[in-house]
Amino acid sequence: MNHPETILVTGGGGYIGSVNAAALLQQGRRVIVVDNFERGHREAVPPRAVIETCDLRDEAALNRVFEAHRVDAVMHFGAYAYVGESMTRAEEYFHNNFIGGYHLLNAMRRHGVQRIVFSSTCATYGEVDNVPIDETQPTNPINPYGRSKLAFELLIRSYEEAYGIRHAILRYFNAAGAALEQGEDHDPETHLIPLVLFTALGKREAVSIFGTDYDTPDGTCIRDYIHVSDLADAHLRALEYIKQESITCNLGTEQGYSVLEVIQAARAVTGHPIPVREAPRRPGDPPRLIASARKAQRLLDWKPRYVDIQEIIHTAWQWFLAHPDGYKRK
Ligand code: UDP
Repeated sequence: MNHPETILVTGGGGYIGSVNAAALLQQGRRVIVVDNFERGHREAVPPRAVIETCDLRDEAALNRVFEAHRVDAVMHFGAYAYVGESMTRAEEYFHNNFIGGYHLLNAMRRHGVQRIVFSSTCATYGEVDNVPIDETQPTNPINPYGRSKLAFELLIRSYEEAYGIRHAILRYFNAAGAALEQGEDHDPETHLIPLVLFTALGKREAVSIFGTDYDTPDGTCIRDYIHVSDLADAHLRALEYIKQESITCNLGTEQGYSVLEVIQAARAVTGHPIPVREAPRRPGDPPRLIASARKAQRLLDWKPRYVDIQEIIHTAWQWFLAHPDGYKRK
């Protein structure tokens, strides 16, 4: 009889990591969550997961975690993930996202763990003329966040060549929405959909629109918003797929929505007016990011269930109505 697989999930207290941890448990896997809870939340970790409070930058502590548990594979979400913040804090971004990842890969190697699913990003592409973006596009990240993620992608590839560690590099577009038990709770919150919904809740006076003079139909930036549960579905498939071979693929819906369209959709979902104010561009923001997700569809047999932005926003809205203060007061 096969024993249940044990998956070590870094950043399992974070938004996307916690939803994935829950999905793994649902499938009968054992889950070890590794998180320093600097930005993640203990309350977000599903109750059946084992928690190891550990910082990826602390190599010795990370090795102790691998010594304490027999790990079959890793899902790696733990990282700093704010484009804007990364512009002035390059050192911290590379330390956490690259050096932390380096320690993780070394610990895997030392303990014979041969599979990693890595939470990468469309920010690795940078400004791309051709949308939708497929995986053959050159990677030219324009901010330290994207560069730190791309640097770790290169390391992962090298560790496959040298040590046979298989990988799924999953480049997500804009993760959005909420699962039933888990949703977004960032501090500080900088993401568009939560800020729009905070404004609908009356917690903020207005939403700032960062730039209205982009070369897009309404002048605001266009993004491809992918539901967090659809991301989790793709991760589970990738974990199986890489038993055969490594894969790099985008995860998105192939639909682009401008900042103004997101706000309009949120008005429709919430029934609130949601005032806006125009603000300068945010440094580091590419004008347009839309995925071609055909590779994931083909190789992972994956298809997002949520394609309508209103539906995605609706799940986030339900989460914020039920958890107006995030995880702090459940
Ligand atoms: N954005 C905005 N106002 C905000 C937050 C974000 O206009 O208060 C814009 C941002 O410039 C980007 C888009 O919304 O074009 C999505 O930003 P978010 O931070 O949610 O995700 P990112 O694309 O940076 O990963």
